[in-house]
Amino acid sequence: MFNNLTLTKPEYKNLPVKVLIKNGKIVDPVNGINEIKDIKIIDGVIEEIATKIAVEDDTLVINAEGKYISQGFFDMHVHFRDPGIEQAENIVSGSNAAMAGGFTGVAMMPNTEPCIDNKFLFNDLVSRSKDFLVDCHPIPAITVGRKGEKITEMAELVETGALGFTDDGSGVQSSESSRRALEYSKMFDVPIMVHAQDTSFEPGVMNEGFYSTLLGMAGISNLTEDLMISRDIHIAEYTGGKLHIQHISTKKGVELVRDAKKRGLKVTAEVTPHHFSLTDEKVTTFSTDFKMAPPLRAEDDLKAVLEGLKDGTIDAIATDHAPHTPEKKNVEFDFAPFGVIGLETSFAAGNSNLVKKGILTIESLIEKMAVNPRKILKLDYDLIKVGNKANLTIFDTETEFVVDRFKMKSLSRNTAFNGETLFGKVYHTINNGKIFSAE
Ligand SMILES: [Zn+2]
Repeated sequence: MFNNLTLTKPEYKNLPVKVLIKNGKIVDPVNGINEIKDIKIIDGVIEEIATKIAVEDDTLVINAEGKYISQGFFDMHVHFRDPGIEQAENIVSGSNAAMAGGFTGVAMMPNTEPCIDNKFLFNDLVSRSKDFLVDCHPIPAITVGRKGEKITEMAELVETGALGFTDDGSGVQSSESSRRALEYSKMFDVPIMVHAQDTSFEPGVMNEGFYSTLLGMAGISNLTEDLMISRDIHIAEYTGGKLHIQHISTKKGVELVRDAKKRGLKVTAEVTPHHFSLTDEKVTTFSTDFKMAPPLRAEDDLKAVLEGLKDGTIDAIATDHAPHTPEKKNVEFDFAPFGVIGLETSFAAGNSNLVKKGILTIESLIEKMAVNPRKILKLDYDLIKVGNKANLTIFDTETEFVVDRFKMKSLSRNTAFNGETLFGKVYHTINNGKIFSAE
């Protein structure tokens, strides 16, 4: 059962002392740069950025002609299942999947076994990933055991390095607990990241609408999400707290966030690649690769999400990478767990379904995949400059490929994009003096 786990090794290599990236197009939305330059890296640090840098001896030359170079992508919503469910994913395999997807940083959700709700478990994950290429940030729980009641030791956790808090996997049902959490978030200036789902409704397995009626399946209505987003925006307004809406999926939800932003509230939102690419029509295949929470929604919701990405209502793209073993997923739709993996298809899905369709420019895609997640978590986001550690992703936007669930670094296979033709390939991911290169 644990064979996969013992075989899992980090797949990065140490960078040689001298590296020269030649002729790549730097896309840096932070400084408004979009031009072809060379980047010289010495000992993992950017030494020079210029139009033509001479090749010295003993230098690893990376030919980036026809490719883009951006700051490393950052996924603010991943489940690495570590500790507790390491056969589905663990911090090593999850990081391998992240690097392959172009990510140099991730925020790991706390719904592990046990739940990350104290500094000892937090520090264990930090110390086990300290030598990685990928910066792995655990996001501890809002409430003890994610039970939705008693607030965790937030002051202590912020001091330990927590960038935010979430009970992801469930919504905090108690308004009192949400209020306390948002009050603390104001005090510590960290976001409360919410999985907006009111569970007092009858449970469902897919979006409530035309297709759930057609298939005779129990629906999860937009109301379950809209009510929670609305409540939490009210509480954020009342307390002055910092609210981040995770995996937004409904039309009304997007409208609520747009309105909150207009009124100057500290509210941000993320969307997943599956929610900006697919609708609940996919469930007619009965494949459990289309079962996730929130569920794939209707056409109108998808349109609203695209509009929200375009006008800046939705700040970030986050995968909600949620691995489950085939044993767990290959069951009847009603009984399968919620969730799909996403790290290795996120960039290509964004490039294919947003950039190529004119919804976003490549600059705004990089903003939502790399810059804004770091901004929301108060990490440094002005990364491409001389003297900084090289934290870079090298990719193209034209390579066409068919998504193959068996060609992934993730230990799990539950992708919603299997068999889809997508465009865009990540070639190299560089961070912390290390490099990952695609085959
Ligand atoms: Zn969630």
